[in-house]
Amino acid sequence: MPIRVLSEEVASKIAAGEVVERPASVVKELVENSIDAGAREIKVEVRQGGRRLMRVMDDGAGIPAAEVELAFARHATSKIASVEELSSIATLGFRGEALASIAAVSQLTIVTRTAEEDVGTLLRLEGGKATPRQKKGCPQGTVVTVENLFYNVPARLKFLRSEVTERKHIDGLIHRYGMAYPHLRFSLVNDGRLAFQSLGSGKLYDVLIKVYGLETAQQMLEARSLEADDLKPETQNLELVDVYGYISPPSLHRANRSYLTFFVNGRWVQDRMLSYAVSEAYHTLLPTGRCPIVVLCLELDPSQVDINVHPTKSEVRFLDSNAVFTAVQKAVRRALVDQAAIPRMAGLPSQWSAQDMERRRRLVEAGAPQARAAGIEAPTFFEFPEPAKLPPLRVLGQITQTYIIAEGPEGLYLIDQHAAHERVLYERLMAERAKMAVTSQALLEPLTIELPFQSGEVGGESLEFLSQLGFDIEPFGGETVLVRAVPTMLATGDIGQAIVEIVDGLTEGGVAEAGEEKALISLVCHSAVRAGKTLSLEEMRNLIHQLEETAMPRTCPHGRPTMIHLSAAQLAREFGRR
Ligand code: ADP
Ligand code: MG
Repeated sequence: MPIRVLSEEVASKIAAGEVVERPASVVKELVENSIDAGAREIKVEVRQGGRRLMRVMDDGAGIPAAEVELAFARHATSKIASVEELSSIATLGFRGEALASIAAVSQLTIVTRTAEEDVGTLLRLEGGKATPRQKKGCPQGTVVTVENLFYNVPARLKFLRSEVTERKHIDGLIHRYGMAYPHLRFSLVNDGRLAFQSLGSGKLYDVLIKVYGLETAQQMLEARSLEADDLKPETQNLELVDVYGYISPPSLHRANRSYLTFFVNGRWVQDRMLSYAVSEAYHTLLPTGRCPIVVLCLELDPSQVDINVHPTKSEVRFLDSNAVFTAVQKAVRRALVDQAAIPRMAGLPSQWSAQDMERRRRLVEAGAPQARAAGIEAPTFFEFPEPAKLPPLRVLGQITQTYIIAEGPEGLYLIDQHAAHERVLYERLMAERAKMAVTSQALLEPLTIELPFQSGEVGGESLEFLSQLGFDIEPFGGETVLVRAVPTMLATGDIGQAIVEIVDGLTEGGVAEAGEEKALISLVCHSAVRAGKTLSLEEMRNLIHQLEETAMPRTCPHGRPTMIHLSAAQLAREFGRR
């Protein structure tokens, strides 16, 4: 076939495919336009998962009659005028493609009026072709109705998923915009049913309740980046990024990453680096394979992000991605260390912190109807995460030589002695390492150990790391090493097994840091008291006391729980006392 320039019609349908992948993409673009137009209230209506109809109504600035047709021309935008402005974009849109693309693959009606005009404008487009515009009375703002998406692109129509799937995408999208813009009032009506509504109170927490429900929201922890004056000189560039949001405590997790939500300057983005920063912050706190629920808003100077990476604008690039990574990881980690705890019955009002009070007030305000429906009476009954410390525990005994049984102010606690000791040793080791003061103990008899899976000798770097940990090891020919001293905590543990695993961890770990982390956990694991060992009352009290002193008493470094709590209320229920 000879080379030809594609007709305008074919070219526009191809281009539309980049922006409009599915009904949710249409809703996304229309909602972004409403936000850019300064709307306070955005109403979204969807029929049949968006396949039949999608309508977005706003009370924003509107489009002047004379510009309505132009808004549907490709690359027509009121948001930027020059290439220079690309580096300081403050609006969600800027490519001038959305309306043109949507109109090319649907039957579209727009009704719009600016504050200056007495009467609004109605324009209808079918497959991108406009019929003459008409005058129409309407309130200030814009209503865009998109019907029969892809009616003229059978190839795309075929690929649409079920109504339910498409509707879920739209639901998720409106939830996200609700969270990113808590000061705007969003509503979503699916096939005539109100599916979501945000209050526009300006508080992210209020929207969180609407999206995840009262029970989940009340467990979430607030996260924010360090205040500027907390910053050490070497971390000054963190000021570049402001992080704010909510994260789940280690006890609340989900099976997949879809609960990680990030906004960069009000734009929802999908970014591996940000997900990684979060999973690093939760490191050793979650069971393997589980993901936290996270909603984080990042604010940074527009010149520090490139949003023009993809037509859907859901990918971004950061100029200083290390600074962004660190800021996110620190904000999340700090929230976990400061606040994570097992949810419990509310304490006495006199013990509530100011933050608790504020949360409580908002919960009651926002969630009272839900709370009542669930049979929850009054604010005193809500549960709040408390600072991470354990309540004072009284040791009662040991069962199956594995679990310590203890009583606390709120019932019964079963503590896994090995997991608990691992947590204690892990934090001690980290503290000693930070001070470069890991204590070491010489062995009476040097120990020879064969490293079965090693390819020959242990390298210099591994030996260096081992000596930092308090080992005194020297190569002894072939795959054998001579051990003269070990970290004090390991002296009564399984030295041979620990060394083999540590060296394995170092060589397999891939990234240096991951390898080191694995090695540290192996050391701790082989030093900790085993399941199956009888402990005296004194030993158990000591262990519990040490656990109380740790920053993260609820999980072991592998992410397993260290304890199970049976509340007095639970016990009463089990015994049929109420
Ligand atoms: P972009 O948002 O990238 O500028 P669009 O094709 O989405 O491109 O919109 C084109 C133009 O139409 C916008 O720049 C804006 O001026 C106008 N516009 C679109 N939607 C609205 C709206 N809801 N309210 C006011 N103006 C709008
Ligand atoms: Mg737009």
